[in-house]
Amino acid sequence: MSTLPLAPRGVLYHWAEVLPLTEQTPRITLGEGDTPLVRSVALERECGLDELWFKLESCNPTGSFKDRGMVVAVAKAVESGARAIMCASTGNTSASAAAYAARCGLDCYVLVPGGKVAAGKMAQAIAYGSRIIEVDGNFDDALNAARELTARHPVALVNSVNPYRIQGQKTAAYEICETLGDAPDVLAIPVGNAGNITAYWKGFGECAEVGRATLHPRMLGFQAAGAAPLVSGVPVPEPNTVATAIRIGNPASWGGAIGARDESGGSIEAVTDEEILEAYRLLAAREGLFVEPASAACVAGLLQHGRAGRTRGGRAVAILTGNGLKDPDTAIAEYVPNITKSSATVAGVERALGW
Ligand SMILES: *Cc1c(COP(=O)(O)O)cnc(C)c1O
Repeated sequence: MSTLPLAPRGVLYHWAEVLPLTEQTPRITLGEGDTPLVRSVALERECGLDELWFKLESCNPTGSFKDRGMVVAVAKAVESGARAIMCASTGNTSASAAAYAARCGLDCYVLVPGGKVAAGKMAQAIAYGSRIIEVDGNFDDALNAARELTARHPVALVNSVNPYRIQGQKTAAYEICETLGDAPDVLAIPVGNAGNITAYWKGFGECAEVGRATLHPRMLGFQAAGAAPLVSGVPVPEPNTVATAIRIGNPASWGGAIGARDESGGSIEAVTDEEILEAYRLLAAREGLFVEPASAACVAGLLQHGRAGRTRGGRAVAILTGNGLKDPDTAIAEYVPNITKSSATVAGVERALGW
């Protein structure tokens, strides 16, 4: 029996022709990208849509979309001779950076806001062996420090201010156009540091340019009400929300987000923590999708629009950015557990079930 050669998966293989790679760029991969696009079975109508699709970025190797951009940023860092990388992070960037650094034998330094990173993400940064510095400040303070540190020391900065991150993340827009056969009418996405909305808009623009899509989606960005500088128009000095991945007061890609909003005829709006947690529960209970709170923000926004009668059909894609397992504390606090104790006997379990 002949064995078929395994085609390597991953963003650097699949999307090489749309990325700034050279012969010298190492083709590293953890199998990122090529994530499922699944149709909503329960929330479509309530959102006022003809079609609602979920892009499961939670299925990336470290459980968030950050892997798409990180694989490019780390490959380019290795290509340029870097021995170490650094990032500031609300958790997922550090998990991803730490994984690819481990893969490539680089040192990884992560700056995280003390006490504000979800437990699963901390577990990842620890397991992959990164050097973790907990700063006494928020994400914005940590990013300022990381920018200055990487300007002074021979360490590559892998936050989304690194243009290779945006390049890698834009590949999700290509995948959506490929799967649906065109761009959707609406793209709903949570917005924190605003690199991802910037990347999707770039990706959809490129797809339209080369005939992979016939339309540009309306970009609907959603921020948490306690961390919504792009809605108010001014930085938020003390951002706060249960959705820690978007707990950011002064987005680095501010201009990119406003450009995506205005050029697409879209909007960037706020959803409350209550709305986020409602969408978080509905996604798990009615769609079978366990995501982290930040990811639920975009579905909360679509529900808000649908209930207010602001949506008139069409096809939308919601980006589910990260896996629910990353934040077990919120899950345990927010879901009502349905647990009954029983003896380990058939009769005992029948009694517990009321059968
Ligand atoms: C990073 C992140 C976001 C926000 O993306 P930005 O590019 O910072 O706007 C949203 N959700 C999750 C799960 C994230 O990890």
